[in-house]
Amino acid sequence: MKIFTRKITLFLTLFALGFAGALGLGLLHKSQDPLSVQAAEGQMVKMTLKGLENKEYELDVYYDGNYYYLADYLRNIVIFNGSDIEDFASYGNNFKLYASRNGEFTDPTAVTLYYNCVQVYDAYTEENIGVELKGLNDNADDILNNATENGEVTVYAIAHLNNGANRYNASFSPQWNKDDTAISHGFMYVGDGNPEGTDTQGNYYHFYQQARSLDTIGHEYQHGVTRSVWGYSPSTSGDYGAINEATSDIFGMLIENVEENKNASSPVPLRDESWDNGTKATYDGTPLYSMRTKSPYYRFDLTERTICEHGEEGHNNSCDYGYVHYNSTILTNAQYLAWKRAPQAFTRQKIGKLWYETIHHITPESTLEDFALESLRAAQKLDFEEEAIETLYGVYTAKGFPLCKVTFEGADGKVYHTEYVQKGESAATPSKQPVKESTVQYSYSFKGWKGDLENVTEDITVTPEFEESLRQYSVSFYLESGELYKSETLPYGALTLPTLPEGFEAWYLDAELTKPAENAKVEGDMKLYAKAAPVKDDGADLGLILGISIPVAVLVAAGVAVLIVILKKRHA
Ligand SMILES: [Zn+2]
Ligand SMILES: [Zn+2]
Repeated sequence: MKIFTRKITLFLTLFALGFAGALGLGLLHKSQDPLSVQAAEGQMVKMTLKGLENKEYELDVYYDGNYYYLADYLRNIVIFNGSDIEDFASYGNNFKLYASRNGEFTDPTAVTLYYNCVQVYDAYTEENIGVELKGLNDNADDILNNATENGEVTVYAIAHLNNGANRYNASFSPQWNKDDTAISHGFMYVGDGNPEGTDTQGNYYHFYQQARSLDTIGHEYQHGVTRSVWGYSPSTSGDYGAINEATSDIFGMLIENVEENKNASSPVPLRDESWDNGTKATYDGTPLYSMRTKSPYYRFDLTERTICEHGEEGHNNSCDYGYVHYNSTILTNAQYLAWKRAPQAFTRQKIGKLWYETIHHITPESTLEDFALESLRAAQKLDFEEEAIETLYGVYTAKGFPLCKVTFEGADGKVYHTEYVQKGESAATPSKQPVKESTVQYSYSFKGWKGDLENVTEDITVTPEFEESLRQYSVSFYLESGELYKSETLPYGALTLPTLPEGFEAWYLDAELTKPAENAKVEGDMKLYAKAAPVKDDGADLGLILGISIPVAVLVAAGVAVLIVILKKRHA
């Protein structure tokens, strides 16, 4: 299968059909250049390439026997040159691959972008950020086919879009399969910034080369991962979009910290500055987004959430799609504050796990409030320490999130289960019923929870109710020979002894027949033993005589009866 042409031309029809599908159908328009890459012939080769700031990177690049490409089919990353492309949305564009005969790449932006994309991809491990993307070492087809397993995304990263004009920032645009079910790939636009200075409105322009900024590339890449988890939806705006942006900021931050640790002689922990994103993407090093320092643009409290009057359908670029970037910091600042208060509980790996788990419970209708609740539930599901969950809950409620905590106590008065709900909603009961330990005298069965679980409007504690009954014990009765006579289940209390078997005279509490069982109490499982009555000397003879005398008596009686009948007949 041909996986690259030197020049890929995209047509409107191609998008209508879905990019991957179109390729499979061979609709991809080949350029005049006869060279094409055969995946089967190609291989990844190590090269040293020069990026921005004259940094040298050792990178795997794709080589097909004729050309080298800034592409990695194991990691599903392709770098395109977008400099001639005015605007992606107008379609009919030419995205040019970076191809080189001799392996020299003279565009340092493209090299740095490629390097950072690889760093981002490699950061997704369980150990690093708690999220593993499958697909590394998958076959080469993945690069242009649907690579959606577990959040894997094929990323086409585009440098110099429209020669940088109007594209000073970076963004991500997911593309969908023709059945709209899953992401197949995404376009990551990475702008060159704008000339430093002040515009006519007095806004300071400070965007610099975005490719330099690893947390920015991580942010955009995570958009692909998030959308892959969420599946198809036409747009991410409003609260849904703010959750999307918040998630990207968190992963951008985590990924940069992975990189910081790569060549460090001692561990570099998350620290305050980690929570500033995009510091390498500005001329003066000011963060593009800060999750810790308030600015006029970014909201920290729920009460500051900016709702756009357009309504969901009408959002556009002018309102930041419903203030998605403005409101996202309400969530990221909550995570920052929770980390600040309990850094041991919110490690890089745990934060990644928490957010990744949480976004699995987010739908296009989800609100910031829903996110907060789902993150608490995710923390519970992931077995975060109680203290960590409590910290997060405290941060949310301080920010004005209308959450309530329902504490279910166990029989011992300790916390048995905690349930978080939105204010005014009802709380579900724990899936497992609590158990109250039996005493010697009583057993307890769970009856229900005492407390109003509907319309919860404040933090409440709910206690369990138990029904008390006399504890039942197993009591076994044996003959002194050891043969089982009968078994009974009897309640705690006075022991009613069963009728002794024939030939036995008394019950004992021990096999040695030393402790008489009269007045014994049932206070546990018991074994009792029947003592045989002493055997009398004439016992056997008596039995013998009776054995014979009974038939004799019957014969005598029968004889008399016959006689009576005869006599009666005579009288008749
Ligand atoms: Zn974003
Ligand atoms: Zn709007």
